[in-house]
Amino acid sequence: MENYVENALKATIHSTPGQTEFYQAVKEVLTSLKPLLDADPKYAHYNIVERILIPDRQIIFRVPWIDDAGKIRSNIGYRVQFSNAIGPYKGGLRFHPSVNLSIIKFLGFEQIFKNSLTGLAIGGGKGGSDFDPKGKSEGEIMRFCQSFMIELSKYIGETIDVPAGDIGVGGREIGFMYGTYKRLTNRYEGILTGKGLNWGGSLARTEATGFGSVYFAENILNNIGDSIKGKTCTISGSGNVAIYTIQKLYELEAKPVTCSDSHGMIYDKNGIDLTLLKTIKEVHRQSLSEYAKAKPDAQYIPIEAYPKGMNAVWSIPCFAAFPSATQNELNLEDIKTLHKNGCRLVNEGANMPSTLDAIAYMQENKILFGPAKAANAGGVATSQLEMSQNASMQKWHFAKVDTKLRDIMKHIFDLSYATSQEFNDEGNLLLGANIAGFRKVADSMIDQGVV
Ligand code: GLU
Repeated sequence: MENYVENALKATIHSTPGQTEFYQAVKEVLTSLKPLLDADPKYAHYNIVERILIPDRQIIFRVPWIDDAGKIRSNIGYRVQFSNAIGPYKGGLRFHPSVNLSIIKFLGFEQIFKNSLTGLAIGGGKGGSDFDPKGKSEGEIMRFCQSFMIELSKYIGETIDVPAGDIGVGGREIGFMYGTYKRLTNRYEGILTGKGLNWGGSLARTEATGFGSVYFAENILNNIGDSIKGKTCTISGSGNVAIYTIQKLYELEAKPVTCSDSHGMIYDKNGIDLTLLKTIKEVHRQSLSEYAKAKPDAQYIPIEAYPKGMNAVWSIPCFAAFPSATQNELNLEDIKTLHKNGCRLVNEGANMPSTLDAIAYMQENKILFGPAKAANAGGVATSQLEMSQNASMQKWHFAKVDTKLRDIMKHIFDLSYATSQEFNDEGNLLLGANIAGFRKVADSMIDQGVV
């Protein structure tokens, strides 16, 4: 079986050169699958690993738009429809200058198993563009979103593929894209999630990834007879995921003390001022340096002053760390520092925030670990709840959605934990989540024949 996995990885590297982030996600999943593949030869017989590494379809397109100076600009748009074995493709759109096919493929690949773990009928996909929304006017963002949707609209549909937000894509961008879809097709249907509350969005969707991440951490801690209450927590990021992680941590009486953006980080030993953070990020879309101006007690560390090769957020002592910004933001040096400072839990709010060697270190040193595809699945799960409401023309109360979200996070924890026990590695949630997520998709592929 070793060879089977090795060969699949080699073939991927050969056929898709240079896709480093994609290989990283593949390695992480395939390594965990070994005990399942060893125990059941049917997955090799049906060549599932080789098949699942090739997306169903990859759409790459030009997105031309006109900036405020009247200059014609162009970006690259992507939608990778990875697997619809268990439901329509589902996954976010990321607008960030770092976006390329490797990034979209790693995210799409993770999304297959994350969506499967939720227990809901959603397949895996991801898209985006190398467009940088930072510093763009509202008009420029609107024209970009309209152009992006003119092409994307040909490939999506409420039973085909339902995109949502991710980094750089929030309610405003979803609105501009939804408006364009409606105008192009004259149809009012749930082809995107994360919509505004007045026009088909679900209550609690904005909060869902952050809330879900903390619910997951609480499940991990409850399982060992502990809880997050009274604990100091560090959080990276200051987008949707980070903000609502901080909010839920406060609701559970924990103490969140950090957040960060692409320019630097804030350490507020008294606890992050959530109202101030929301005003800076959600209302004014400003840099976190504004936080320090408003609260001179808080420490602002600009990114230029970070220790070499490290993320300064992880130098702050904490009981639990919530990486909630982006991929590979927590490396081996960072985890060693966290460990030295007494950190007991790393719970991934972002997608693939920990490097492979950092994960290995956590496992060797028995640091509790909530892997991304389980811990941050609350966002996409609540997107599915939005799809359900759209399809049945209902609107649920906040508490109903939040209760379902909490139940789903518990289901994901229980399933991942039980699967880790089944494969004699109790508490290894990475292994449990990967095997459980994969098994449902793989068994569905076998049922559906060679397609
Ligand atoms: N971008 C989010 C994720 O990484 C949400 C996707 C969705 O709601 O479809 O899971």
